[in-house]
Amino acid sequence: MKKILNLQCINCGKEHKTSEANFVCTACGGNLEVNYDYKLISKRFSIGKLKDNREFDMWRYMDLLPINDHDKVPHVHVGWTPLYPCKDLAKELHISNLFIKDEGRNPTGSIKDRGSAVAVARALELEQEVIADASTGNASDSLACLTASMPMKTVIFAPKSVPDPKLVQLLVYGAEVIGVDGSYDEAFELCKQSVQKYGWYSRAAGFNPFTREGKKTCAFEICEQLDWEAPDKVVVAAGDGTVLAGLWKGFTDFNKLGIIERMPQMIAVQAEGSAAIAEAFNTHSEVKSVSAHTVADSIVVNYPRDAALALQALQESNGMALTVTDEEILQAIPELARKANIFAEPAGAATYAALKKLVAQGKIERDETVVLVVGGNGLKDIDSAMQVLPKVCVIPPTMAAVEQELKAKGFIK
Ligand SMILES: *Cc1c(COP(=O)(O)O)cnc(C)c1O
Ligand SMILES: [Zn+2]
Repeated sequence: MKKILNLQCINCGKEHKTSEANFVCTACGGNLEVNYDYKLISKRFSIGKLKDNREFDMWRYMDLLPINDHDKVPHVHVGWTPLYPCKDLAKELHISNLFIKDEGRNPTGSIKDRGSAVAVARALELEQEVIADASTGNASDSLACLTASMPMKTVIFAPKSVPDPKLVQLLVYGAEVIGVDGSYDEAFELCKQSVQKYGWYSRAAGFNPFTREGKKTCAFEICEQLDWEAPDKVVVAAGDGTVLAGLWKGFTDFNKLGIIERMPQMIAVQAEGSAAIAEAFNTHSEVKSVSAHTVADSIVVNYPRDAALALQALQESNGMALTVTDEEILQAIPELARKANIFAEPAGAATYAALKKLVAQGKIERDETVVLVVGGNGLKDIDSAMQVLPKVCVIPPTMAAVEQELKAKGFIK
């Protein structure tokens, strides 16, 4: 692939040809990063060409993706999700410009569809017959969907924390689901060992360098939707750190190609009970495994698999990392729905909970443009939202009961 220079180890720097490594560094086992030939790419790729491109999904950025052909990947619509201006909410929070990138609009309801799409295209190029994944739910859902109609078997290691709406997607799309009575980290390890033992292709976050590449298309879209500018701040929830690292890669790509001049500040949001990245960043120390627990099931990770690149993104962007409590996350779900019309799953609503904290701490400048990346749809985890919502009272089917109920609610006098 001419547009790719090499796959470089982020740990020891070893450069691999794309034919030499599928996953991690062959010398030290470190994660790999895809390096591009920007000179070559800039001959084919420009703002002008994008303006003429009528393909409004993530594949409009093919020139910057590590695959040659996506024609065999089922064309469910991945990417080009809306970037909503939230004027009233911005006013309430006293910030100039607030936008929400609604990744819940992807086919399986989360940003993971972007990463899976590239991993699946890559697996096809390598003529793989089995693709495997372990995830907190969303990544596996997207993999199950994108491979459903393909001549490829999909094996999913699902930790028991996966909520039913995420589990049902795996089953409905026909993946082989192996439920694991353990954490995401334990499922990840089983997946990794199975991939080695049986020679499967792995989609696992961090381990597969291509998932990050898919996720970076979210950053491309944000720039394009903001008329070829990066925002000042990008607020994103982090578990493994792949989304954060992927977004940063996207902004970096566009900057190297001269499409954006200024880079944004990246802000990582983690749940208080699952905060290995925030902890390492804020104490300037090594990443340490935690015993993770949070209602935000998409970001419950003991040992983040893409921490090195996530931390690099925070450092290079002069960014910030903060935590929010489960209670703040749960309260943020109906609040975001009522104030911005977006029903987010807990990890998505966490970004809004974090924004309120940042505003209260004076960390957002008055004239700044802030983008919240809401990573997943609220319908993917209804039990969490239900915890903070009132029970519905059932009445007899009479008008008298209607009147009584409306009065009880204080809706009429
Ligand atoms: C996966 C996910 C994240 C965070 O992604 P990481 O790459 O694990 O940091 C955030 N929000 C949602 C909804 C997700 O599915
Ligand atoms: Zn290495």
